[in-house]
Order: sequence, then structure tokens, then C-alpha cells
Amino acid sequence: MAASGNLFILSAPSGAGKSSLISALLKQDSPRPMQVSVSHTTRDPRPGENNGEHYHFVSVEEFKKQIEEKAFYEYAEVFGNYYGTSEAAIDAQLARGIDVFLDIDWQGAQQVRMKKPEVTTIFISPPSKQELENRLRSRGQDSDEVIRDRMAQAQAECSHYQEFDYIIVNDDFDQALADLTTIVNNQRLKRSQQVEKHQDLFNDLLAND
Ligand code: 5GP
Repeated sequence: MAASGNLFILSAPSGAGKSSLISALLKQDSPRPMQVSVSHTTRDPRPGENNGEHYHFVSVEEFKKQIEEKAFYEYAEVFGNYYGTSEAAIDAQLARGIDVFLDIDWQGAQQVRMKKPEVTTIFISPPSKQELENRLRSRGQDSDEVIRDRMAQAQAECSHYQEFDYIIVNDDFDQALADLTTIVNNQRLKRSQQVEKHQDLFNDLLAND
């Protein structure tokens, strides 16, 4: 049976570069399979987003039904929409030995931490307030009001940085990716993981011939 996979949470204010980091991580060669969890959300798809790939887009009614059925590992209301992580999907991936990455906000991170204390949590920070604002502005033609709103939301997300196991400051992208890779490898090399993976080796080393 495959050793069970590791669960990672990545949280960040929008504009910190979290999605780019996760997708670059998943493109790297890895000794273990890795997947990003596909959340459910009640928000509308943005151009280029596909149902089942970026999110499972559902109605508020459907989302509430799934809350009642206790289908979510965690869920939260973020910027006026519901977002949630399916428990069955995550458990199935972990059981197959897949390392799973949750791209969720601080509220979801708190809930998962309560249920699964062994989860590895990572906070991605922008290098400065000014750079965060530059990145948000360079994304499109958002009005000053929308930018102000996003900066306030970013500040709310950042106020939880102390709750995370690791912090990556995404100034230089390649360095941030190297840092993320180090954290993932560090988790995989923990004794508990190695013993599970190499049980036969240790049985053999300790056997009296
Ligand atoms: P967006 O709508 O820009 O894709 O995501 C908005 C925020 O919702 C991001 O901070 C993202 O991490 C968070 N988010 C996405 N999926 C989930 C989820 O399943 N649970 C929680 N708690 N937050 C989520």
C-alpha cells in the first residue's frame, strides 16, 4: 500500500503570487505525485476558468446542501462568496499517496488545522505593501476604489501570518519557488514519513540473519 500523501495549505493575499508558485511547483519533477485540490465555490467563473478544473462552480443552494451533508473539510465565506474543500476528494487523494495542496484562505486553514494537526501550512507574503499594490494595479483596469478594497482584504489575510508553520516572502520568484520546494521536501523527509515509506528496509536492517 502506498504511504499516505501529505497535506499542504498555501494561503496568501491576492497579488502575492500564490497561484503561479503552486503551478510552477507542480510542473517540477517530483518523486511523489502532487495535486492541487479543486474547491467548490459559489462565485461566477472568470474568463478562462473551467468548471471542474479551476473550481467546481455551484449555486448557493447546492453549496448549502453540501454543508448540511457535511461534505466539506472546511468552508468559508470569502469576499461575499462561499468556498469549500470536499472532504471525500481530499481523503481519496491522500490515501492514494498523493501530496495535496489546498489554496485556501486563513479561515479554511484554521478549520483544517483543527481537524488535521499534521497539515503543513505556508503563508506567502508579498515583499512590500507597495509591491503588492503595484501587482494588483498591473493586473487590469481596476478602479482606485477596487484597489483600495483589495488592499484592505490583503491586510486582513496578512494579519494571520503568525498562524502558519512557514512563511515565504515572494520577492524573487525563483527563490520563492526554491523555498516552497524545500518545505515540501522537508516534510517528505520527516522520520514518520520515511519509516512508513521504507518499512521493509528497516525491518531488514534490524532482522537477525
Ligand atoms: P478567488 O476567487 O480569487 O479564486 O479566491 C479568493 C480566495 O478564496 C483566495 O484567497 C483563495 O485562497 C480562497 N479560496 C479558494 N478556495 C477556497 C476554499 O476551498 N476554502 C477556503 N476557505 N478558501 C478558498
